[in-house]
Amino acid sequence: MSLTRPDLDALPSYVPGRSVPGSIKLASNEVPYGPLPGVVEAVTRAAADSHRYPDLAAVALREKLAARYGVDPARVATGCGSVALAEHLARATCVRAQDQILYAWRSFEAYPIIAAATGARSVRVPNRDDHGHDLPAMAAALTPDTRLVFVCNPNNPTGTAVRRAELDAFLAAVPPDTLVVLDEAYREFVTDPQVPDSLAAYGGYPNVVVLRTLSKAWGLAGLRIGFLVASPAVADAVRKVTTPFSASVVAQAAALAALDQEVEVARRARMVVAERDRVAAALRDLLPGVPASQANFVWLPLGARSAGFAAGCEAGGVIVRPFPGDGVRVTIGTPTENDAFLAAAKAALG
Ligand code: PMP
Repeated sequence: MSLTRPDLDALPSYVPGRSVPGSIKLASNEVPYGPLPGVVEAVTRAAADSHRYPDLAAVALREKLAARYGVDPARVATGCGSVALAEHLARATCVRAQDQILYAWRSFEAYPIIAAATGARSVRVPNRDDHGHDLPAMAAALTPDTRLVFVCNPNNPTGTAVRRAELDAFLAAVPPDTLVVLDEAYREFVTDPQVPDSLAAYGGYPNVVVLRTLSKAWGLAGLRIGFLVASPAVADAVRKVTTPFSASVVAQAAALAALDQEVEVARRARMVVAERDRVAAALRDLLPGVPASQANFVWLPLGARSAGFAAGCEAGGVIVRPFPGDGVRVTIGTPTENDAFLAAAKAALG
């Protein structure tokens, strides 16, 4: 008899992203330009209140997010990163042994872990040959036991995005008692006008949850704030299962300060996008089949060569993210960092 659930033995133990001193790290989809103006000062001020508990309901932050995105604060839930909210959504929807969580694969690695930790069954639908979600196949995989669906748009790690017409058709096929999470962690980097802003397009659907983060474009990865917009009932259920006080005093203050910087966020996102498109074009000269990315990273479909390529880049001083046997994800850095990566990639691809 084991002290902990035996099914957890099948879960991979967490392997942190590699950090090699002196190397350029392009492995975790962070934006390279440092904290936004005003954030460090807000964090310093908030640190003086470190002996106090944070606001449990994150009222000021939820109100500010609600005002910025034009929704009722009752529809907003915040969490310790959007990955925590994804887990809370699983906890808020799945309870029976047969409950299923449906998602595309390959996609965000947290989805299978969240499903397993919740005790729900994972149902994975392979991406198409162009590395994008196969939404008709996902619709065909829906069953009465599907409680939660993750649509990762743009998709981590392939960078592909689903467009309005495909998503309209998919959502029309989802029964009203199945919750669909549109995970838009990389929304700020989307430039394809046919890729919908789900808040505007689907904000009124009671069974749609839009999941966003302040970790990427807003530069707060290390402080951990994500948020979702859902129907008031779903947002309330998520708040009920959230670990109390998980968004710290400092994180809430940082998020409030970051949200004042939308002009700077947009400027940084434009720099990332310009570099993304430059890096992707240069990579296509070295490797066929690099998909168009709508995120702040690019995907190299290297298959069996993935681990060797990542090792080669590391030897060249650049840490990238291999998914052995499948591909390599490379985060867009500063122009100098990207040039170093392209030089390392050229050498590694020989
Ligand atoms: N969703 C997707 C698709 C992601 O790639 C990530 C970060 N890797 C997250 C959610 C979680 O981000 P965070 O918890 O930092 O908000």
